Amino acid sequence: MPATATFPIFDALSLRREFPILNQQINGKPLAFLDSAASSQKPRRVIDCLEDYYRRYNANVHRGIYKLSEEATFAYERARGKVAKFIGAASPREVIFTRNTTEAINLVANAWGGANIRAGDRILLTVMEHHSNIVPWQMLAQRTGAKLDYIGIDGQGRLVLDDLDRLLTERTKIVALTHQSNVLGTINPVRLIAERAHACGALVLLDAAQSVPHMAVNVAELDADFLAFSGHKMCGPTGIGALWGRRNILEAMPPFLGGGSMINLVELEQSTYADVPSRFEAGTPAIGEAIALGETVDFLNSVGMETIYHHEHELLCYALDRLLVVPGLIIHGPNTLEERGATIAFSLEGVHPHDVAAVLDSEGIAVRAGHHCAQPLHRILDVPATTRASFYLYNIPEEADRLAVGLEKVRKLFA
Ligand code: PLP
Repeated sequence: MPATATFPIFDALSLRREFPILNQQINGKPLAFLDSAASSQKPRRVIDCLEDYYRRYNANVHRGIYKLSEEATFAYERARGKVAKFIGAASPREVIFTRNTTEAINLVANAWGGANIRAGDRILLTVMEHHSNIVPWQMLAQRTGAKLDYIGIDGQGRLVLDDLDRLLTERTKIVALTHQSNVLGTINPVRLIAERAHACGALVLLDAAQSVPHMAVNVAELDADFLAFSGHKMCGPTGIGALWGRRNILEAMPPFLGGGSMINLVELEQSTYADVPSRFEAGTPAIGEAIALGETVDFLNSVGMETIYHHEHELLCYALDRLLVVPGLIIHGPNTLEERGATIAFSLEGVHPHDVAAVLDSEGIAVRAGHHCAQPLHRILDVPATTRASFYLYNIPEEADRLAVGLEKVRKLFA
């Protein structure tokens, strides 16, 4: 296995050196990567781990009675154990490897939803959801005749909890919401929502794509029933993510995809299915990527999730101070800092977000412009698109300075 580096005392500058991609010039300027909410960069040890698998012990898992396959299977299952511990799961069997958050939510909507949702049932979402936590439920509702309800937001992009109380009824079968908004940065009071949902008999699915990478997440403390997240947003590879579910709920669920690895016995007319988690991992999984996700978890633990959260919070405060003085800049999302993460979506009066992003790119600053897969939210914000700067553990205050200076340049160019 590759050598590991640890960071007992957080030092973003040293940590940056672990991310080879950050050490480059874009358009003649040092890269300031402020788009980690879309996909994060990878530390050397995760890249090395992936390469090590392909170079040294690449083989299919769970099948081969030979050394390489046994080694791959051991590493794959060990990664599952690391991921389970990382999110406070009771057992590795509660963790299903998926391609990403989107696939994890689709798994629940299809397997759990198909077995439990009937015509007239209600599915409760929020208007700040990413499309991947809206569309699978719309598809389920269309198939079953269920109805979707939505919790709204206030002027600061916080959930209106009165809507929760008004919309939660005994017909509500599941509340599916984001832990942290990928646009507004809002961190939702998910534990409180879970308590109220459970009191009504509804399950709770958390889209944790934007929380697991940035804060300590413990499924037992959050009292959720399902949790979905993606490896690529937490310094891990693309093509790998996870669904956590309560064991008794997973065990009662039928499979999502059919094929190899998810069966006990196959006959010509019918089959019986494997236990959880194999039942939900049909076909050859992303083996190297899952193993590298385990390495990613080790990396994040070596920095410390509390440390990451505090570093990002300091960056958020610093960046907001620098941005709030830019004339014509409107920042979307809560201005109470403890209620938000370091994802800052904004509008600059009179300038299209694509132009903002293009000018910033000419300064070596990578931000995202568009609807960020949250079209209903942008409709409520009454803007077709926003520009989004998102900070992560490897960002430094100087990059917030450069963002503010870059925005001044945008203003001058488009004045
Ligand atoms: N949910 C949220 C809140 C996200 O920010 C994203 C990605 O941006 C997703 C879901 C979908 O993640 P993936 O594309 O990795 O499935």
